[in-house]
Amino acid sequence: MRVVRALLLLSFSCSAMNPLELRLVDQMRGWQKRLGLDDWNMTLKVVRQSDIDPNAWGSAHWDLRAKTATIQVLDPRDYNLKGADLRLDMECTIVHELVHIQIAPLGPADPGVREDVVNRIMVALLNRQCPN
Ligand SMILES: [Zn+2]
Repeated sequence: MRVVRALLLLSFSCSAMNPLELRLVDQMRGWQKRLGLDDWNMTLKVVRQSDIDPNAWGSAHWDLRAKTATIQVLDPRDYNLKGADLRLDMECTIVHELVHIQIAPLGPADPGVREDVVNRIMVALLNRQCPN
């Protein structure tokens, strides 16, 4: 019975993912591996602007000890970009949030300095500028 319930929940959560989420999760897994974060249990959510900072395209919450994280990426309906630029920028958001998680063990830092460092590492990893 417990197995059936688990399978039901699994099929439910898989079927809830749309093609966009599937692509973003696939990208996240690829970057997780590249950054050596593949032992983390990460989830990705596409969220509306009202769910995150009004000036942000994404957000991340993590637990360093448990190695769990949730990365939130802005819903295309609220994005300022479309088409290829949108796709490129959503990948930037994923890498940006993963770099935040990567440097989290370093502890607190001036928020402006931290954002600058995260963005420089993001650009270096992607080997291109980001549309936003
Ligand atoms: Zn940031």
